[in-house]
Formats: sequence, C-alpha cells, structure tokens
Amino acid sequence: MNEIRPQGANVASFVGDMPRDPEAYMSSLNALRMQKLKGQLAYCFANEFYGQKMRDAGISDPRDIRTIDDFRALPPFMTKAWHRESQQLSFEKYGHPFGLHLCAPLEKVIHVAGTSGTTGLPTFYLFTKKDLELTYLTMGRMFQMAGIRPGDSVLQLFGLSIWVAGTTVIQALEAYGARPIPLGAEAGVSKALQYIEMCRPRAIFATPSLISHIVERAPKELGREANTLGIEIIVCGGEPGLAISAFRKRIMEGTGARVFDMTAGAWLNAAMDCGGPEHNGLHYLAEDYCFRYDLVDPETRKPLPLVDGAVGEAIHTGLEYEAAPALRYATGDILKLSIGECPHCGHFGSRFNFVGRADDLMNVRGVKVYPTAVKEVVEQFRPAVSGQMQIVLDHPPPRVTPPVNLTIEVGPNVGESDWPALAEKIEGRIHQVLKIRTKANLVAEGTLARSSLKTKLIRVLESSGR
Ligand SMILES: [Zn+2]
Repeated sequence: MNEIRPQGANVASFVGDMPRDPEAYMSSLNALRMQKLKGQLAYCFANEFYGQKMRDAGISDPRDIRTIDDFRALPPFMTKAWHRESQQLSFEKYGHPFGLHLCAPLEKVIHVAGTSGTTGLPTFYLFTKKDLELTYLTMGRMFQMAGIRPGDSVLQLFGLSIWVAGTTVIQALEAYGARPIPLGAEAGVSKALQYIEMCRPRAIFATPSLISHIVERAPKELGREANTLGIEIIVCGGEPGLAISAFRKRIMEGTGARVFDMTAGAWLNAAMDCGGPEHNGLHYLAEDYCFRYDLVDPETRKPLPLVDGAVGEAIHTGLEYEAAPALRYATGDILKLSIGECPHCGHFGSRFNFVGRADDLMNVRGVKVYPTAVKEVVEQFRPAVSGQMQIVLDHPPPRVTPPVNLTIEVGPNVGESDWPALAEKIEGRIHQVLKIRTKANLVAEGTLARSSLKTKLIRVLESSGR
C-alpha cells in the first residue's frame, strides 16, 4: 500500500489564512460570509420566488438582515418539494422547467445538472459561466486534497447521466488540468477493468460498491489483483460505504490506493475526507463560497449554536451564485459538525459526518434521538453483537412511544442462553447514554438483510400502511 501522507495542509484555499482557534475561525468566516450574503440577498430579493419568500418572512428590505444571526433566524426559503413546485410553475408560466427561482436570464445558463428523478420529478441545478468557474475552483480544491495533479489520467466511473458527479466533475477535472477518461458507471465492471488496464489511470472516481466489484473481479478478468494495477487514488461518493471502517480497509487493501470520500456539486458545495485509514469527517473546502452547515433543529427549524459536536439539519446557501441559487435550502440532511484540527491531516477548519435524514429523527417522549446514536451504543457491544441492527416502529417517526423495539444481531460466538442477559445490558446502556427505554430483541447473526450499503436503520411495520 502507498504511504498515507496528510494532504490537507497543502490545500490552497482561504483556510490557510484563517485563525487556528475554533471561535476566532468561525467569527472570521462569518464576517466574510456576511459580506457576500448581503449581495446574494439583494440579488435574490429581486427574484419573484425568493422575493415572495422573504416578504412572507416579514422582510421588506434585505438590507435589514445585518448579521449572520439575523440571517440564521430566518425560515427555510427552499425545500425539495418547493424546488419541484417552482419548476412546475415556471413550466406553466415561462415554458421552461428550471424554476421560478431562476434569478439569471435563461440565456446566461450554460450548464445543467440535477437529480434523475427516480423518486419523483427531477430537480435541476443550473450554472451560469461564473457559477461553473466557481464550481471548478471549489471542486479543484477537492482534487488537490486527494493529491491529483494536473496531467494525471483520471478514470471517471460515476454515472454520466444528469448528475453533478458525472459531466460537471469531468469538466472540473479538465479545468484543473487533469485528463478525465469519461467512461461512466454505465459501461459496467468488465469495461472498467479493460480501461484501467489500457489507460493506467492514476486516479479513479466511482461509488464504493463499483470499486468493490472491481477488486473482486480483477483476478478473474485480468489475471491479476487490483492492487497491482497502479491505481494510486480513489475518490468515492454517492454511498456511505467509506464511513464503515472494515469496508474502507478492504477497499484500501484491495486496490493499494489512498481512498477519499467526497460530497460535492450543487451550489458550490465541496467536502472531502482526507484519505486516512479511518474516516475523519468530510472536510469543508468551500466555506467561503457556500454556507452548508447552517444547522437547525429539524423539528422547530430554530438555529443551533455552531459549535464543535453540534448536530442538526443542514440549511444550504450559495454565497456568490447566479443561475438558480440555493437560498436557505433545507436539505433534509442531518450533519454532525466538528470544528478544529483534523487528527489525521492537521487541516484546521470544519468537518462533518452524515448522521441521517431529518425525517428519521425520533422523538421518544420529548427525548430527540437519531437512529445512528442508538446504533453507536449497540456497536459498543461488539463482538457480542454483529453490528447489524434495526429499529422497528409501528408508524413513521418522529413520535415514538417507548419502549423502542430494536432487532439486534448477536455475534457468532454467543450462545442463545446468554441472550437475555446481553439484551438487558444493551437496554441498560442505551438508557444510561440516550435516556430512552428500549426493548432489545436479539436474533442470530445473518438474520438481517445486507443487500445494500444503505441498510435502513428504521423499519416501519407494514400494517401501518407505509
Ligand atoms: Zn484530515
């Protein structure tokens, strides 16, 4: 395996000039953000969609929003549902599906990405020339953090349909000076292996599950292990696999590469972990161009203090965005924020981990608990438990009546006679840590499905009609 070198310190971004003290860092950052926000708010106020949202929130003049706290006290101005509605309305009114919140003239929009619409209508992300250039800049910081150099061959194996991870990333790699080979996930594993052998990419972009298939099938299809193919850098996204230590280790050993987890794309968002043996959180690399971790309580939508360890729903705002900006966009993502120095690479700034989705939050008699918090406590009992578990509810959260039913797989060497005592210990520990009552139903290892990396932590019983 290649030597793992910290990369974060080399990332040329605004972070280098910022104070290395969490409080001072945040106040410098907020001053910079507020300066940019003033322009963004005035720009969006002139738009029919956002102007109305602001007036609905009692704002008659955006100049009245003077501080970051004034801004953070405002309600969300956009959600996924409103985004779709805005697109529907612009189609009816103007004959294009890009939304009433399109702030720039349509002819200035030169790049389109979005979601595929597998669970409903597609949503679009639009870019003017300036938006694209800023996207290249923020994505470029990620490429740099991963150690990609101008001139490197990069095999692009993310899906090449409408997603930002497809064409937009390819264009950003070209702008960076790298040489993306745009094969796409659509080509399949055999083609990917053929291209790896032919083109010898130094870096590969792909989902963790596709990389996993490449590792498995290389010996059979190429007659050699994947870790002899000269791959030095793997950038993953789209699935949470790399946050799982055992999976991460398998990918690193199987490929011999440094492995990075990224999330990026729409509205200048760019974050990446630093490729250590453990996931050290996604390092924010575009804090000067967007405000992502504007965390609020997902139930009340009240702003939460932005301190190390804060957990809440991310409200996203692009700070210098022209086409169809995100302005207080309630993402539904629950993030846990870290502020300070990364223990692996020394990068000073903010990092985050995905905790779940806002609609997974449970309210157990007034105690708010995310499913991942329950899983963390259960995992402390390894190897007596396998780590696989599910929360079983009669109806969808948030309201949950205790005891909360848990199905927990035991580890391989625990006899059935020991299960009751183990269940009691787990229930006691959860009560101690999370202050909620649970009922632990133990099952044998292998009982719970493992078909996907995205195993749902919550199962709502069928009889509830969901
Ligand atoms: Zn780091």
